Amino acid sequence: MEEDLTNDLVVLQRHLDTMLDRVQQNSAILQKFQAFEMRLLKLNSLPDIIDHLLEEAKHYFDLDVVSLCLIDETGEIAKTLNDKSHPCSVKNGLMLLDTEEPLKSTVILPYIGVYESAQYADFFPHIETQPASVAITPLTHRSKYLGTLNLGSYQLDRFADNMGTDFIEHLSSVISICLENNLNVEEIRRGSYIDTLTGVNNRRFLEQRMGEALNDCQRNAEPLSCQFFDIDFFKLVNDKYGHQGGDRVLSLVAAAIKKQLRDNDVFVRYGGEEFVALLSNINESQALEIAERVRKAIQTLAIAFNDVFISVTVSIGVSTYVPDSRAVLTDDEIIERLIKSADSALYRAKHSGRNRVENGGIVLNKQAL
Ligand code: GH3
Ligand code: MG
Ligand code: MG
Repeated sequence: MEEDLTNDLVVLQRHLDTMLDRVQQNSAILQKFQAFEMRLLKLNSLPDIIDHLLEEAKHYFDLDVVSLCLIDETGEIAKTLNDKSHPCSVKNGLMLLDTEEPLKSTVILPYIGVYESAQYADFFPHIETQPASVAITPLTHRSKYLGTLNLGSYQLDRFADNMGTDFIEHLSSVISICLENNLNVEEIRRGSYIDTLTGVNNRRFLEQRMGEALNDCQRNAEPLSCQFFDIDFFKLVNDKYGHQGGDRVLSLVAAAIKKQLRDNDVFVRYGGEEFVALLSNINESQALEIAERVRKAIQTLAIAFNDVFISVTVSIGVSTYVPDSRAVLTDDEIIERLIKSADSALYRAKHSGRNRVENGGIVLNKQAL
């Protein structure tokens, strides 16, 4: 009798120990999830979040492969990742898809289990060793499908199909919220740098990028040129064709100037009928050549408005900064002089008859102007 009781106690104790082990294991997993999520919630840029998901998830959860598929129909994510203000190398584990179709047909609910190459290879591109088991979880927020987070292990029992999906579903909800919030912030940020009438960047964008452009040119010992454009007699366009006619001219002139520049040149509507371009690694003579090309392009532009064609011309002022190792001016002073010099040249172009290019010359890095 006593012996029976002792045996029962031993068995009970073993059960308790196993349960305690499970509780401790679960608690450790929960802590890892919480730490991972806390870190995720603190990140406030899309590239940092993507880096965290692709790099840190491996360490936190002891995984062998992690990849992320994101649906990027408008190309906004790609733009954000290439944005110079957000240095982020697009890692091999990141896939941007321009449509949700390939994902939707495969994953609607999370999949946890054995890795079937025929079915899941697309979720793990660029990997050398295939995982043995995987967890593929859709990322959705407010019924919007954002993509999938794909976790893989070389161990077959790491993701078994009888495993609960609670942790992973919770994690994917948090990730989805973080991704969507950051995408929204990016959209607002980008929108705040766009001029709504012409669709080109605005003056705020120029102010934000000038310092960076100057830094790049100093670092690479390359020239930096600035062009100021002002539509001639624009007030007369408004008077003759109304504000709507004027607006149309502004849009098409902006597009025509942009067309003559490189994609990565900074080009903004500076205000009213004035535009500014900032050309990296373009010297004085090249800047003058480009300005002349723009002037001619605008001169030959026939802007259809109602039943007529409107023609306009632009005056252009050009200035160039050439980095100097004996620099004495601050970056702000150099920027101010570059802008002032192009603006003065524009003023001269206006007073010399308009529809012409004037050169403000090289901005010197010396105290006296
Ligand atoms: P100049 O050759 O000396 O540059 O003469 P201008 O008539 O172009 O210059 P002015 O500065 O006298 O006039 C600029 C006009 O641009 C006045 C303003 O009403 C108009 N303008 C500014 N912003 C807008 C806009 O968003 N839409 C339209 N339609 N007109 C605008
Ligand atoms: Mg003006
Ligand atoms: Mg004008």
